[in-house]
Amino acid sequence: MRLHQVLMARGIGGGIIGCTTAYYLTRHPKFDPALHVITLLEAAPSLASGASGKAGGLLALWAHPSSIVPLSYKLHAELAAEHNGAQKWGYRKLTCGAIEATVSSKKIEQLQSSKDDGKAWEKLPKQDAAAKELLSSSQVPEGLDWFDRDVINGYAEMGVPGSTETAQVHPYHFTTSMAELARSGGADTRTNAKVTKIKSSANGVQGVEYLDRETNETKEIGDVTDIIVAAGPWTGRVLPRAKVEGLRAHSVVYDADVSPFAIFTDIELPSGFVPEHRAKMGQKRKHKGRVDPEIYARPFGEVYACGEPDTAVALPDTAEQVEFDEAQCDDIISYISTVSPVLGAAPIKAKQACYLPQHMRFGQESGPLIGQTTVPGLWVASGHTCWGIQNGPGTGKLMSEFVFDGEAKSADIRKLDPRRFKV
Ligand SMILES: Cc1cc2nc3c(=O)[nH]c(=O)nc-3n(C[C@H](O)[C@H](O)[C@H](O)COP(=O)(O)OP(=O)(O)OC[C@H]3O[C@@H](n4cnc5c(N)ncnc54)[C@H](O)[C@@H]3O)c2cc1C
Repeated sequence: MRLHQVLMARGIGGGIIGCTTAYYLTRHPKFDPALHVITLLEAAPSLASGASGKAGGLLALWAHPSSIVPLSYKLHAELAAEHNGAQKWGYRKLTCGAIEATVSSKKIEQLQSSKDDGKAWEKLPKQDAAAKELLSSSQVPEGLDWFDRDVINGYAEMGVPGSTETAQVHPYHFTTSMAELARSGGADTRTNAKVTKIKSSANGVQGVEYLDRETNETKEIGDVTDIIVAAGPWTGRVLPRAKVEGLRAHSVVYDADVSPFAIFTDIELPSGFVPEHRAKMGQKRKHKGRVDPEIYARPFGEVYACGEPDTAVALPDTAEQVEFDEAQCDDIISYISTVSPVLGAAPIKAKQACYLPQHMRFGQESGPLIGQTTVPGLWVASGHTCWGIQNGPGTGKLMSEFVFDGEAKSADIRKLDPRRFKV
């Protein structure tokens, strides 16, 4: 008789981090489906219901943290080559640049102006000071023909011009394809399965309890050797000491087939500018300064744009309950219409919001947590802020190494060790 050591890895969260982790666990050389059980538990009715289905999908070698970015950027290219990612999830290289634009009041004369009760526009953390240093001034590229050149004062390309430091995927298609590939490799994925309790002793993890939201029954999985918490912004609810919480951001998707550029904007609006939809609502809200929506041409005939984060609505219980504020989406559409007549005329496919997972310490965003917690067999992979799509494959690969090899082999990520924060 042979004795099998049964490894039962349970992943909590069906976003990009949970799905890439499940994928790489099934691709690890030590994985044997006859011996090992991998189950991914997702609280929402479908996978990729949170930020992983609603993000932009930009990949960049100049993203952060630097300990994981080169690995993950390379893995994205390898995954695309191995699984026909160009067709399945729209993997492609694209140019990323930044434009500065000034929009005169004449341009928007149809918009009603009113008394200044202005609100400063907040940037998403992608456009931080470090990213700005990587901009090099150049001419507006010929191919960038979906902006109104009359309002552009300056254009700069990110990274080394003409290099291949920026790429993209369609995040929803990428995440769900990873889940599909994990299933075909032997993993089980369960939706409507909301983990309510992690059971452990000083010796290690024992199991999980979850609410089956279809039957409303509490179910239990025991005899577990490893539990990986990858619940994005909900990680702090599943494992409070992780201190990973959510920050909401709105986005819109246009039905528009334009040339492949990812553009960070910096738009100066005339003082007194009130978006038309707000004027119609009798609102006097306006932005006196600059606004900077990010706009990404995407594969499959789409353009994605996201706006500023907001703290108006707390993270709801589950991903499908996330609310979006239509007026905030219309703000993005309104600002973009002042610089891009093409997008101004394009049909809108989606207005939406999602929550960035942020690991907060002392009131500051403190980078992702990837690795072992203080409880043997309990792992965390969360807090990827605005770079979770870029860093998903690297995180998944490293998690598979932790589980099967006991250590991260492909990158030195000691700085991201959850035990540094007593998680
Ligand atoms: C507007 C916006 C634009 C972005 N653009 C980009 C970009 O261009 N490039 C980039 O790299 N990144 C981008 N990001 C960041 C990226 O979307 C996130 O970092 C990434 O999606 C996080 O993935 P995740 O798997 O950790 O979390 P999520 O996608 O939130 O997934 C977590 C999952 O866990 C599930 N869950 C929660 N609680 C439980 C529970 N108790 N039991 C079971 N399951 C549970 C949730 O339902 C959810 O499906 C963007 C984010 C936003 C908000």
